[in-house]
Amino acid sequence: METKKLYIGGEWVDGPLSKPNINPSNTADIIAEYACGQADQVQQAVAAATSSWPTWAASTPQQRFNVLDFVGTELLQRAEELGTLLSREEGKTLPEGIGEVQRAGYLFKFFAGEALRNSGELVQSVRPGVWVDSVREPIGVVGIVTPWNFPIAIPAWKIAPALAFGNAVVFKPAELVPGSAWALAEILSRSGLPKGVFNLVIGKGSQIGKVLVEHPDIAGITFTGSIEVGGQIAAACGRNMKKVQLEMGGKNPLVVLDDADLDVAVQVAIQGSYFSTGQRCTASSRLIVTEKIHNAFVSAMIEKLGTITVGDALKKETHIGPVVDQSQLDKDLEYIRSGVSEGARLACGGEVLKRDAPGYFLAPALFTDSRPEMRINREEIFGPVASIIRVKTYEEALEMANDTPFGLTSGICTKSLKHAQHFKQHAQAGMVMINLPTAGVDYHVPFGGRKASSYGPREQGSYAKEFYTTVKTTYTMAG
Ligand code: NAD
Repeated sequence: METKKLYIGGEWVDGPLSKPNINPSNTADIIAEYACGQADQVQQAVAAATSSWPTWAASTPQQRFNVLDFVGTELLQRAEELGTLLSREEGKTLPEGIGEVQRAGYLFKFFAGEALRNSGELVQSVRPGVWVDSVREPIGVVGIVTPWNFPIAIPAWKIAPALAFGNAVVFKPAELVPGSAWALAEILSRSGLPKGVFNLVIGKGSQIGKVLVEHPDIAGITFTGSIEVGGQIAAACGRNMKKVQLEMGGKNPLVVLDDADLDVAVQVAIQGSYFSTGQRCTASSRLIVTEKIHNAFVSAMIEKLGTITVGDALKKETHIGPVVDQSQLDKDLEYIRSGVSEGARLACGGEVLKRDAPGYFLAPALFTDSRPEMRINREEIFGPVASIIRVKTYEEALEMANDTPFGLTSGICTKSLKHAQHFKQHAQAGMVMINLPTAGVDYHVPFGGRKASSYGPREQGSYAKEFYTTVKTTYTMAG
């Protein structure tokens, strides 16, 4: 089987080792072998990016637009093929995989436009005859470290703005899903970028990721992943005075009020909690439901879950694909056992399912009668597991929604404008959803959270430039 290589300094190079990319819907299906790099290859990638960066920083907005537009166009044209690869390596369903590739395409198109919209400010000085302008300049070489659950959208929403604003990039994707990252790198290799401006290093985070994060020539690290690794990266960047942007976990609440439309609430809860196998940082995992609608909501959720098909991500009839790997499946099962032992009622699901091929299939689990202090309501599970917490009033629901160390998304289902408006103002989260799933965001507006979910400037939309640029203020006196 051919081994897919690393991309360093404009060349495809082998690593000392390689690893198979395994399909979680069928572990006998090996997608391809991917090279794993080592520390000195990270050094080479940073050196290549450092030497080519001035050329790219001096490029015109038109050149940057052309590169990003080329990548966006190809992603959109190949959405079905690359979406199939994505679903095969990560396990989300085919429509979800294709949708994610399309989103990556639109992200590149959006940031192609942002390259043209990088305007500054000109003001009159407080001193006579002096003018002051402020412009945004690239920060230098950006290190990009991404997780496995959005193998192409997250790389896209970091690589596209980095390049749009004139930075060079060293990209380290999650070692579990190198296929989509490699395909994106291959398109970038033909996009017209000068050699060395974009580099791909694949390998273990604790080894090569660490070297990248600690490298003195890296100006900033943008990371999405777990809170544990995020904390280590923030500390390393702090020590070395690097810019840092972290997007981490969630424990997102969905409040369902008595006056909610029951069908809408169930649809929103099922979508938000279980689609993409619940492996989304924005997934709803705490369903906070007021008294009068509680029993009807529980019955409707159980009925709806009974109609959901779990299976091979590429099969047409599948609603929910497999869990990404054995260790995530073990983690999900451990949380399910902990919910039961702490006294929550497992109303449905939670068992490992057998399918035609060997894979990591888990029936979506719903807990009822859960209490806020239980581990299943405090810690991020990152699987198809959600729990219902029963409350008396809207005020109690809001308090419980905010009672978490995380603050990524927060949702409410209600027909009351008064409650929706109040919730919007008082939810302690970076993103609020009203009668919509907590997961599922647009590509042209800011993305990010509060508290332990995020650290540093927002990603995406016009806010992305805060991380990828630095401001220079110039005072001019006409001589
Ligand atoms: P992870 O933290 O284990 O790994 C993320 C990336 O960091 C991987 O590329 C990994 O190789 C690398 N890494 C690991 N150790 C490192 C180190 N010491 N130095 C540098 N890099 C290192 O996360 P994961 O398991 O891939 O992804 C799941 C997590 O990602 C969940 O907690 C989820 O909530 C979070 N996530 C957050 C968002 C968001 O936007 N908030 C989006 C998606 C996923």
